[in-house]
This record gives sequence, structure tokens and C-alpha cells, in this order.
Amino acid sequence: MKLLQDHWPVGIRTQLMLWYLMAFAVLMLLFGAIFYANLRTSLSASLDTALQLRTQQIAAGITNEQGKIIIQDVTGELPGVVDRDSVQSTSTPDGQEVADQHADVTFGTLVRILAADGHPVYVTRAFRGLRVPAASITQPLHHVVWQGTVTAHNGQAVRLYSAPLMHDDTVYGVIQVGESLTSLGTTLQSVVLELLVIGPFVLLLSAFGSYWLAARAFGPIHRLTQTAQEIEASDLHQRVPVPRTRDEVQALALTFNEMIERLDKAFAQQRRFVADASHELRTPVAAIRSMTDTVLDQEATPQEYVAVLHDINSEAERLGHLISDLLVLARADEGQTLLEWKPLRLDLLVSDVLATVETLASERSITVELGRLAPALVMGDEARLIQVILTLLDNALAYTNEGGKVELAVVIRDKHACLVVQDTGIGIAPEDQEHIFERFYRADSARARIASGIGLGLAIVEWVVRAHRGTITVESQVGQGSTFTVALPLAESASQEQKKA
Ligand code: ADP
Repeated sequence: MKLLQDHWPVGIRTQLMLWYLMAFAVLMLLFGAIFYANLRTSLSASLDTALQLRTQQIAAGITNEQGKIIIQDVTGELPGVVDRDSVQSTSTPDGQEVADQHADVTFGTLVRILAADGHPVYVTRAFRGLRVPAASITQPLHHVVWQGTVTAHNGQAVRLYSAPLMHDDTVYGVIQVGESLTSLGTTLQSVVLELLVIGPFVLLLSAFGSYWLAARAFGPIHRLTQTAQEIEASDLHQRVPVPRTRDEVQALALTFNEMIERLDKAFAQQRRFVADASHELRTPVAAIRSMTDTVLDQEATPQEYVAVLHDINSEAERLGHLISDLLVLARADEGQTLLEWKPLRLDLLVSDVLATVETLASERSITVELGRLAPALVMGDEARLIQVILTLLDNALAYTNEGGKVELAVVIRDKHACLVVQDTGIGIAPEDQEHIFERFYRADSARARIASGIGLGLAIVEWVVRAHRGTITVESQVGQGSTFTVALPLAESASQEQKKA
């Protein structure tokens, strides 16, 4: 079938029909053969039984009186025995039977009675046309019934039953009764012929039937395909029709719709991302333009030029950060970013990073405290994990008022190393909490607070944590502060999970 498909791209309906056809043909051949064999066996068995019965009936009319075999001619009354030939009760002087080539083996009576010395005392004319093996006489003389198939001179097969004639346990003769196998052969032949005629007919019907059934079954799928083809990338709010059949087709349609919905969301997200990115890129460029326009339009003092250059520099720096953040996310989306996995002590990374923000913290009069730092070995990318700690710490400092407190801790919970960053800052409103990990999302309170925030920091953090098979959660109350918890699998379980993956 595979070969067939490669050279001739047939539809699934035709394929199904061909499979059915093949299965039907094999089944029919098998059943035909079994039926034929059974029929032949049972017909042969019933023929043998009939022969046996007839032999017994003829034998009942034979008596042995003082060594002379007396035969009552009962053949005419026997069922199935129509003696159209005259009965010959003699043999040639030398004891050899005269072979009568023209005797009708098919319709003639096939009876022979032999004396104990093997001489025939009664032979029907048709019987003379048979080639009888010696065993069929010697075996009954030794008290054993002989049964077999013999051939006539004209080649026809005849079933022969040969039994001893007994009186007081002594064999005084042999009776042989035959029946032509021609009618059995004819019956079997006609059965085979009927099977050969009916078989292709049934096969043809089954082919039509299976094609029709397959066409019916694939109708809904065909409609589904057509609708799916009509759905454009720009028109992803369309859905395929869901049949109320509660079957595989319904499951397929539902899965299809779920997939379209996911695609729709992903496309929308991508479009929003591009729009937000362009907007964010435009802002610093516009700022630089307006600054340069101002100094170009009028004469400025060298101090003014320096001040503008400083401003341009910081805008360019912001632009640079934005572009590199965008690049990180774009590469993450494409799955291009390769993480450099190695065993790392999360607690040591935290104390390293802390040193880099101490100046900023003291500038803003915020106390940064180290809580419990449990030794925690994780598998991860050093640079990315430093980025995570730094972003959370930067945010904690950015959104905490002067005199506030930021606390950092590393604890072990449930085979995970948990980095906890807690601040006494402005907090996040419940409706913002579910969005802060989205790209470019900034709570209004944050916007009012620092202009430099872009809203990409937590999106990158979330991606890095996910890439490390970890989780990030936030608990926050407006005006009270926020707690960010990053849970990463400990090195042992991390390496096991990586092996599994
Ligand atoms: P950015 O800080 O550049 O605005 P982030 O992605 O880092 O972007 O954060 C997204 C938003 O989450 C912030 O705009 C702010 O509203 C909120 N947020 C993050 N960290 C804190 C925090 N420690 N306290 C209060 N709000 C926070």
C-alpha cells in the first residue's frame, strides 16, 4: 500500500476501500477453502455411511448353506441401487472376471460377492469395469473391513466398501459394494463454480459499500478541511464548525479550534510586541532629535553642548538596553538562545550581586539586608541567573521609598532552591499582578515613578526561570511591599529532570 501511495497518490477513501477489498478477498478465500474442505469431508462421510448401510442390507439377503452361498437378489429394493444391468453370477472358467469396458460405473449397480477362496459368485455388470486391489479381498478374508477409492477402466473414481460375510465367526465370503464418486465430484464442482461466480460479485458489492461508507465517514472531515483552508493568517478569529457527533471528528474540530485560538493569541501577542517595541524605540529617538534640534537652532555655550551630549548619551544608553532586551526576547522566542549549564551556588551568586547594588541602595537610603542564605546548588546559566537576581533587586530598589528596606534570602523548600526578594515598597495592585510578567507591561504607579523603566525586565526574568524549569511567584500589597520568589530545582533533581527531558 505504501508503494502504491508513493506512485499513485490515492485518497484515503480509495485506500480504505482497497484495504477492505483485500481483507474481504482473503477472508472469502479462507472461508471458501474451509467450506469446501468441510463439504467434501461430510459428503464423503455420508457416502461411506450409505455404502456401509447398503452393504449390510445386501449381506442380510446372503446365506451360507453347507458351503454354498445363496443370494437373494435384493439389489432392486435397495435405496440408491437401480440395477439396469442383468446380473451375472458367473465368472470365466479360469476365475478371471471379464472386464466390461462399456459398463456404466456411474449409474450401474456395483456389487460383487466372492467366496472364501476368492472366486466371485456374484458380479454385477458395472462392477466388472473396476480396477479392484487385492487388499480389498484379502483384508476382509482376515476379518477386517476394507474401504477405499478405486478407479474404473474409464478413469472414473469409485468408492468401494468391502466387508467379510460371516457365519459363527467364520468368514465364508466377501461382499463388495461400490458407489461412483462422479456425482460427489459434480456437486463439489458446482459449489466451487458458484463460489467463483458469487465471490467477485460479493467483492464488488463490498468495494462499493466500503467506498460509500468511507465517503460518508469522511464527509465531515472534508467540510472541516475546506473551512480550515479558508481561514487566513489575518483572520484567525474564524472557527471550524464542530459537529454534535461526540466522535473523533468532533474531537478533531475542537482540537483544531483550540489550536487556532492559541495561534490567534500568539499572533496578537506578537503584533502587540512589535507595536510596543516600535513605540518604545521611537521615544528615545524623538528625545534625541528634539535635543539636537534645540542646540542646532540657536547658538549654544560649550556647557550647553556638553549637557545635551550627556542627555544624548543617556538616551543612547537606554536605547542600547532596550535593543539588547528585545534581542534576548526575540532569540528566546525563536528558541535560539543556548544556555550554558553548569552547577552553581545560588547563595554565592546572591551575595556577589548584592555587592554591585550597594552604592545605589545607599544613594537612595534603602537598607539592603541579607536574610538566611542556605547553601543551594543549582544547574544553570550563570549570566542569566545573575540577570534574574539583578532585575529583581533593581525593581525592589526602584519601587521602594527612601528609608525602606529590601531583604534577600535563599532557602530550600521541597527540593527547590528559593530566592526570595522582599521589599517594603509601593506594592502592586491585584489587577496588575497577573500582568507584570507580560512584555512592556508597567503598572500606572510605576510609570509615574521612574521614566527609565521599559517593562521588559520581568518578562526576561520569567523566561530565564522557565528555561531553568523553575517558577516565579509574587505576593504584594499596595503600600506595604512586594515579595518575589524564584524557585529553581536543586542540582540533583535538576539533572534528573534534564535527563528525563
Ligand atoms: P520595569 O521595571 O522596567 O517597568 P519590569 O518588567 O521589571 O519593568 O516590571 C514590570 C512592572 O512590574 C513594573 O512596571 C512595576 O509596575 C511592577 N513591579 C516590578 N517589580 C516591582 C516591585 N518590587 N514593586 C512594585 N512594583 C513592581
